Amino acid sequence: MSFDQLASELQVRKAASLYRGRKVLQSPQQPEVVVDGKAYLAFCSNDYLGLANHPAIVSAFKQAADEYGVGGGASSLVSGHSFHHHALEEELAAFTGRPRALLFSNGYMANLGTVNALLGKQDAVFQDRLNHASLLDAGLLSGARFQRYLHNDVDSLTQRLSKTQARRSLVVTDGVFSMDGDIADLPAICDVANHHKAWVMVDDAHGIGCLGKTGAGCAEHFGLSEQQLPILMGTLGKAFGTSGAFVAGSDVLIETLIQHARTYIYTTSMPPAVAAATRVSLKLVQTEQWRREQLTSLIQRFRRGCEQLGLSLMDSPTPIQPIMIGNADKAMAMSAALRDKGLFITAIRPPTVPHGSARLRVTLSASHTEVQVDRLLDALDQVK
Ligand SMILES: *Cc1c(COP(=O)(O)O)cnc(C)c1O
Repeated sequence: MSFDQLASELQVRKAASLYRGRKVLQSPQQPEVVVDGKAYLAFCSNDYLGLANHPAIVSAFKQAADEYGVGGGASSLVSGHSFHHHALEEELAAFTGRPRALLFSNGYMANLGTVNALLGKQDAVFQDRLNHASLLDAGLLSGARFQRYLHNDVDSLTQRLSKTQARRSLVVTDGVFSMDGDIADLPAICDVANHHKAWVMVDDAHGIGCLGKTGAGCAEHFGLSEQQLPILMGTLGKAFGTSGAFVAGSDVLIETLIQHARTYIYTTSMPPAVAAATRVSLKLVQTEQWRREQLTSLIQRFRRGCEQLGLSLMDSPTPIQPIMIGNADKAMAMSAALRDKGLFITAIRPPTVPHGSARLRVTLSASHTEVQVDRLLDALDQVK
């Protein structure tokens, strides 16, 4: 069998401006990056708090590598659960105000493992239609009856919940929507879910670190307890600047995941030095409030500037500030024109976002300066 058919499918994708490629980063993740040998000012990483290259985190990583080596060596259930994994889990539980937390190697695996440990064929899963791909995949794999509700629409969710006959129901939503930047209406979602005896799971990949007084994410932002919001998932590769993910909740939830989450059981634990580095990152997230304040002020500056330029922004109070373009060709052309001006911003196209809603996904970081945001606004003015 030859690959001719695949080759022609790739051609079709190229012709539609939907082809994906990688650019090679030759510097740490920071505002000023080197990509394919050229210097750029970047506005597209999820390093929201500017911690991915923080010296204290880098140094904790090195020191733990000296003490514990590099590889996790085995599954957490065999011999891969090290001192730093255990300590980080306890610290994440305290941080989120939940009884327990469990570490996963990444957010995709945390979502797949959690939904599949909780649901089977007799159950139902209710998902916002703009949920992250890993949540949609998790729901499909579980075999539970899969229902999507309109984006952030509590009436649409209520209608579906009130009709279900399932043994168990799970409502799943992004806390901050990854491609739009808006925040889920969690108080109302949790209310209606509790009323219908459904569990709620929030994927707070983009809220953790950024929202809430101490950075504990959308649960802290809205003041939602473990009873109201029983399954809280966060990732460590974005605002935390390291790698991995966790689920926080009750003792019974965490013990169930340890017994049944296949992406926890059948995989090697994260490198212990990553856990050690994340412990330092967590301290910075909790104590350096100025990073969230700096972000808030950059977000306001950017939004004011875009308004003056007549650019169409989305209704987002978070560091995710997409500029809606619509057409994939046009989004690609704008991204290329910005690159010519020394700015690195990727175009996000279908199927990552719905058809006709290609966009430039601008993300801000506490490590950006006002001068850099003004440079971005100038460049946008020239290419718009
Ligand atoms: C990035 C992301 C994930 C995946 O997390 P990784 O740790 O990168 O695998 C899951 N959910 C959402 C909403 C995300 O944005």
